Amino acid sequence: MKHIRAMTLPELAAMLENMGQPAFRAKQLYGWLHQGAGYQQMSNLPKALRETLAAQYPLYIPQAVRRQASQRDGTIKYLWRLADGNCVETVLMRYHYGNTVCISSEVGCRMGCAFCASTLGGLVRRLEPQEMLDQVLYTQLDSGLPISHIVLMGIGEPLDNYENVLRFLSLVNSPEGMNISMRHISLSTCGIVPKIDALAQEKLQLTLSVSLHAPNDAVRDTIMPINRAYPVDILLDACRRYYAATSRRISFEYAMIQGVNDAPEHARELLQRLKGLPAHVNLIPLNRVEESPLKPSTRQAVAEFQRILTDGGISATVRRTLGGDIDASCGQLRRNYTKQQA
Ligand code: SAH
Repeated sequence: MKHIRAMTLPELAAMLENMGQPAFRAKQLYGWLHQGAGYQQMSNLPKALRETLAAQYPLYIPQAVRRQASQRDGTIKYLWRLADGNCVETVLMRYHYGNTVCISSEVGCRMGCAFCASTLGGLVRRLEPQEMLDQVLYTQLDSGLPISHIVLMGIGEPLDNYENVLRFLSLVNSPEGMNISMRHISLSTCGIVPKIDALAQEKLQLTLSVSLHAPNDAVRDTIMPINRAYPVDILLDACRRYYAATSRRISFEYAMIQGVNDAPEHARELLQRLKGLPAHVNLIPLNRVEESPLKPSTRQAVAEFQRILTDGGISATVRRTLGGDIDASCGQLRRNYTKQQA
């Protein structure tokens, strides 16, 4: 059975109609649910209805088992415990354009990227739509900071949890709910081509972020197993189709790893590969992961790489690192916590 916070407004309306309730109750209930209210607080709903709902659709509120706030930049990192005891991370970042949450889409990940902490223990399970929504909702409630932007860049591969992610997007975007604009949402993928094509057909106004991290198969094969299924040319063709279908510029993520993908010739090759594709490149100095020997590029290497791209006409920025003092790198909080509990 679907969780009540995973139901769309029409689904709630149908459910309430079956219970003999008037049509206007659906909007009331949906509004309450998407403010994070418990049934007791839903003061404009009849008591008998609230009791029936409480019995049939118990509400679980995720518990913050860790909450780390950066003294430097106001970043807050949450570790949430889900109903079944699994934990996921959410990071709240404060940018000049608004408060942004980075949410997880899965517990663990099966993509196996060599530099990523989230994949070390494999995939435990996919998140339900309301578990993604709850990360946005309860981060907002807990912090008291209104959330305007979402990035699906936490633990997990969103396109490996396609149906649930799509439902989450429609929930969080709904005017009667959190009403977060699609233009304020980024979805990041390691490059699952058939799912990129499926997403293109949805014609959503979100930003697709593609974790490229290499200009060619020789390099990408060594750090991203997904590249064996969908090599760089195939991936970039899918990006071109995505742009043709949506007119949305693609954002490419490029984690800079010393001696692996950060030479000037890599930048020049990337430039050639991206020609003709409206794109933005986000250079991210690698975050160190304890279990991995990979090191971040030097500041000079990053600057030179960026210069080659911008001189070639590709917009490229270096991602500011936030939360450096709270060890906010991808998947590390959950991993450290899970190791402590074991
Ligand atoms: N699975 C999705 C989204 C989650 S990862 C994806 O692959 O895009 C979010 C981003 O963080 C991805 O670009 C990922 O490659 C990057 N990333 C993972 N580990 C990192 C690390 N140690 N340093 C820098 N970026 C990292």
